[in-house]
Amino acid sequence: MNYQDILNEIYQTIEPILKEGKVADYIPALAQVNPNQFAMSITLFDGSSYHIGCSDENFSIQSISKVFTFTKALSIYSKELYARVGKEPSGNPFNSLVQLEYELGIPRNPFINAGAIVITDTLLNKYKTVDETYNEISNFIKEISDNVDISFDKNVWFSEYKHGHRNMALANLMKSFNNLDNDVEEVVKTYFKHCSITMSTKELSRAMLFLANNGIDPITNKRFITSSQAKRINAVMLTCGHYDASGDFAYHVGLPGKSGVGGGIVAIVPKVMSLAVFSPRLNNWGNSLAGTKALEMFTTKTNLSIF
Ligand code: GLU
Repeated sequence: MNYQDILNEIYQTIEPILKEGKVADYIPALAQVNPNQFAMSITLFDGSSYHIGCSDENFSIQSISKVFTFTKALSIYSKELYARVGKEPSGNPFNSLVQLEYELGIPRNPFINAGAIVITDTLLNKYKTVDETYNEISNFIKEISDNVDISFDKNVWFSEYKHGHRNMALANLMKSFNNLDNDVEEVVKTYFKHCSITMSTKELSRAMLFLANNGIDPITNKRFITSSQAKRINAVMLTCGHYDASGDFAYHVGLPGKSGVGGGIVAIVPKVMSLAVFSPRLNNWGNSLAGTKALEMFTTKTNLSIF
């Protein structure tokens, strides 16, 4: 298969729709990015990679960071984690408060905001301070992506902290149900910090390879989680990785994937490769519009959907 030709074809078809959709502006710093960018990267098990567009451009990974924090927490707490966060799709927007109220402060899954905030709380239990917890998360990402050059965008962090009223409300609601152990401010600060990490599609497609290979990085042969845990994470990505559009993403793309409001999406083809796309304009569900379309074209052209 000539992956570079396929990426070139995708880019040509995608270009006319790069002006559709809307950049996330509820975090004001995210609204500053150039909205018409597009990048797509593929990394194979032998380390060879293919790219199109601005694949070296770092962007705010936002909720893609939840894949790393869920992986880290699962590797520490194993099944115990599910006493505090579920593994069912929410069928609701990523920042919804309603379900959390009638389900007594237990978030449906680790990829909606409430679930990711609980995961951050479990990591704070272990590492104690905002800085130490963030350092552990970023060191884990550095190891997984075999890249020491990972950092966060202070501007985005501060902007989200200033305007993160809904996330604060989610955290306070969970605290009232005794599902948050640490101070609300500390948890939310740590959560915003890992959401503000910046990476490129080139780096992200490299980083997710371990999930395509039963928890082992096929290039360095390092194991990060058990193969059973990798299976679970992929299952949760497939069913919950795109919030209330997870069914739509499975239907059109057919791969486990995770999006972020910064416009990134990662996806994996089990036993074959991992992919990342970036385009900041979002569809109505808060997922990259052109990115979703590009991934759909990819699985259609290559027959590499898991279905
Ligand atoms: N930091 C974002 C928030 O909490 C993450 C949302 C996303 O990327 O979907 O609102």
